Amino acid sequence: MTTFYRQPVHVARGEGVWLWDTDGRRYLDCYNNVPHVGHCHPRVVEAIAGQAATLNTHTRYVHDAILDYGEALTAKFDHDLDSMVMVCSGSEANDVALRMAQAVTGKTGIIGTDNTYHGNTTAVSQLNSSKTPIGGYLDHVRQVPAPDNMQPVGGSCAGQVEAFAKGVEQAIAELEASGHGVSTLIVCPYFANEGFPTLERGFLDRAIAAVRKAGGLIIADEVQPGFGRIGSHWWGHEKLGFAPDIVTLGKPMGNGHPVAAVVTRPDILTAFQEQFKYFNTFGGNPVSAAAAMAVLQVIEDENLVQNAADVGAYAVDLLRQVQVQHDVIADVRGSGLFFGAELWQDGAPATELCAEMVDAMRERGVLLHSVGRHENTLKVRPPCVFSRANADQLAETLDAAMRAVT
Ligand code: PMP
Repeated sequence: MTTFYRQPVHVARGEGVWLWDTDGRRYLDCYNNVPHVGHCHPRVVEAIAGQAATLNTHTRYVHDAILDYGEALTAKFDHDLDSMVMVCSGSEANDVALRMAQAVTGKTGIIGTDNTYHGNTTAVSQLNSSKTPIGGYLDHVRQVPAPDNMQPVGGSCAGQVEAFAKGVEQAIAELEASGHGVSTLIVCPYFANEGFPTLERGFLDRAIAAVRKAGGLIIADEVQPGFGRIGSHWWGHEKLGFAPDIVTLGKPMGNGHPVAAVVTRPDILTAFQEQFKYFNTFGGNPVSAAAAMAVLQVIEDENLVQNAADVGAYAVDLLRQVQVQHDVIADVRGSGLFFGAELWQDGAPATELCAEMVDAMRERGVLLHSVGRHENTLKVRPPCVFSRANADQLAETLDAAMRAVT
């Protein structure tokens, strides 16, 4: 694996928003969304240990932990998504989702954005934009220009809705002309890997209407924005105001335990099972289900969605105050506990400076990273127990690091 930072952090333990390295140095974790309810949350740890000490099998047996979790999770969706398949990773979830769309539509065409990541299986990695697959992208995959704040599709933020939709409409026309047809449009509804641009509710409506008209399904990859991180809603698709046919979940779902899921309608799940006879040995085992259930309960009991909204807004405000001091901060944006600052210098994306900032922050005990087409946006996405005091430390450190590197 490639590790983060010029000097990798040699981690030893974690608690809440804190990580300690092997020398006992403490870091404020502003980056890790997997420990969603905080590193080593005692309730999640207890749930995992308790279930591991009782029974762990696979999903060929009926088990209350799995059934109860399915009920609890699907209750969090306010439209007709009330079926769930548990898997082990976001990649698998997206792989399953793509095949669900194929099973329902009988078509193979897939539309994604041109600046994204949806996982590491052979099928899903066809959608990733950082490296071209060997032999090039397969003909049934189309990448449309991703929305962006600083370099909007079509040249202006106001025209971006239409320009994005036109990209999708063109991809549909191409897929139909080449005989693949459209099985799905798959997007992260927060466009997290694309650099989380600020988008108005309804941004995707026209593109979605075009996909549906062509007979395709909509997959919302909620691996990053899901489970309340964005503060205003539990799910990114609710914030953008659309109703996907399939939702994929991962990273935060088990607070670090490898569990992920696909949530969909019963008719879609039936079509998928008929076509593929799916089984997953580890996906949805009772220990995974116990971990995931504990996460759901902690989010509720500790009001973490509300906390994400409150602390996120507070932190964005602080970063805007830092922005006033530093010309290189071109944009501060985000929602809930998923926000950041885009850096530009001399009229161009400040990629190098952003990398230096990531290291300068690490040296000052704050962990974050970069994202975006040019890797010039500092990405802050901490455990959702992040507090206002943590946000103060983040902003002060950002200001100090910025003074040091510019
Ligand atoms: N979807 C999105 C949007 C992701 O960001 C990622 C991982 N970064 C994945 C899917 C893949 O998840 P995993 O690493 O659990 O396979």
